[in-house]
Amino acid sequence: MSKKWRLNDRTRMLLTLELAIILPAAALMGFSIWNLQHIGRDKAIEAAIQRDFSYVLKIAEKKTWEKAGAMVAAARQEFPPPNDDTLIEHKLERMLKNHPEFVYAILYDKKNNLLVSRIQPTRDADEEFRRHAEEDIGMASKWIPLEATGMCKHLRVMGEMDELPVGYYGGWAVVDKQPTYWSIAYFIPPEIPEDRVTLGVVSFDPEYLRGKLFPAVMADVMAKESNKRAEANPPAMMIHAPKEYSPWVQSTNWDGGKAEMERSLTDIFPGLVLAIKYKGTTVADIGARFLRYNYIILGALSLLMVGGVFLTYRNVSREMNLARLKSDFVANVSHELRTPLALIRLYAETLELGRLTGQEKYHGYFRIIREESERLTALINNILDFSRIEAGRKEYEFKETNLAELVRSTLDSYRFQIEQHGFTYEVNISDNIPPVNVDREAIARSLLNLVNNALKYSKDEKYIGVSLYRANGSIKLEVQDRGMGIPPSEQEKIFEKFYRCGDPLVHNIKGSGLGLSLVRHIVRAHGGEILVESAPDKGSKFTIDLPLDRSLRAGVTPA
Ligand code: ADP
Repeated sequence: MSKKWRLNDRTRMLLTLELAIILPAAALMGFSIWNLQHIGRDKAIEAAIQRDFSYVLKIAEKKTWEKAGAMVAAARQEFPPPNDDTLIEHKLERMLKNHPEFVYAILYDKKNNLLVSRIQPTRDADEEFRRHAEEDIGMASKWIPLEATGMCKHLRVMGEMDELPVGYYGGWAVVDKQPTYWSIAYFIPPEIPEDRVTLGVVSFDPEYLRGKLFPAVMADVMAKESNKRAEANPPAMMIHAPKEYSPWVQSTNWDGGKAEMERSLTDIFPGLVLAIKYKGTTVADIGARFLRYNYIILGALSLLMVGGVFLTYRNVSREMNLARLKSDFVANVSHELRTPLALIRLYAETLELGRLTGQEKYHGYFRIIREESERLTALINNILDFSRIEAGRKEYEFKETNLAELVRSTLDSYRFQIEQHGFTYEVNISDNIPPVNVDREAIARSLLNLVNNALKYSKDEKYIGVSLYRANGSIKLEVQDRGMGIPPSEQEKIFEKFYRCGDPLVHNIKGSGLGLSLVRHIVRAHGGEILVESAPDKGSKFTIDLPLDRSLRAGVTPA
């Protein structure tokens, strides 16, 4: 019956564990894996980084726009009105001096048929610079008068739309067999009446763009981005010509390789393409790494969970075992209490009637009453000891003791009982046992428990052997029987509280499962150990091993 109860309970526990822990956790794991697979398939990480890149590129373009726009706006403010020729040249020159980022400036006015140009005066000494600038101005002087009306119209429309009325042109030209970037800004100078076609033109110095403007923009964006992300690796950027992938300008952390995303700066610097990537890695790598990390973490979590469930299962089943043992114990103990009490009562009543004939019968009855009450006492002592040990209140009184004498007298008071049950009885006490510090009562009780077990668990071959001897620095107290023995699988467990062997024969024998656990506790409190050697149907030998170290040794020991 108890087996069935246990099975049921175990299945119930397994079911509970499964429902309460494993199922939700497994569902969570499954969902996470499904999620990760989705992320992997849709390249969601990659897409998020691309979105981010596209945003950074937009910011970079906006900053370029702002910086270049501010320079052009400042230059425009300093442009002279198209009235007096000589003053115009002078003013243009002063403006250029204030703005070394421009190569030349042109002022065109249709009404006065006027086109004045100046080259950057700070570079006067640079022959080659002058030559290129003059060539450019020569070309500009040809197309400006043709395009000016259309350009002005366009600028006025921009002005009406509240935009800064500035237009940009640019592109690549081959100068001295070198691809060279050029770029101009055009605008209507300040305070020009609506109906007049007047244009101001400034040309950006490509070396200035390359060496100052773009690096400044990149540094700005990177500083902002790396602050925002608090990450060690801000995106790297570079600028190149379309279809030409070597960088024209690059950020300090650009490390070559293919850009992840690009954006043409069509509106302000046509012919330049802004490119972005991460240093030392690719977006695909980052995505793959994200997935890998997550899978690893999931794997580790699953392992932890399995371990946790296993531990819980083990603990709970241990507790359940203990609960079962305890309930068996209560049944056993009640039974053990009831039987001697019933016997005592029966014999006492018979005695009371006084109808017995013969002295011997009286003696026999008294003996039974004494034996049964001794058994009760032993059982109650065991239970009391056990409850003290459980509560941590068991105290031992170590006193100098002659063990040989203790063993002999304990056995003497038991001898009669042993012989009564038809046991052959052999005691070997060697005479070189030194006095030791032990708790007399506890040691005597241990011995009684062992002898009592030998009595209980012997069937046909009725033999009990007790020896006390000294060996290898310890004192050994052995109790040997030729009884039913203990299977190896249970030899460790018999020392656990409440444990009784599974053999059905054992369950017909009275017992509480406390004896050996008490013996072990007592022996360990003395710094020793209890050992068992046993084979089923051959018998058992229990050995109490008390090491003769300084704590046990009392007084002077014989050499
Ligand atoms: P109890 O004897 O009250 O059941 P113990 O703690 O003394 O409790 O013993 C635990 C179990 O060990 C016993 O139930 C029995 O199965 C087994 N056992 C103990 N001593 C012997 C022995 N001498 N021979 C065979 N089995 C034994």
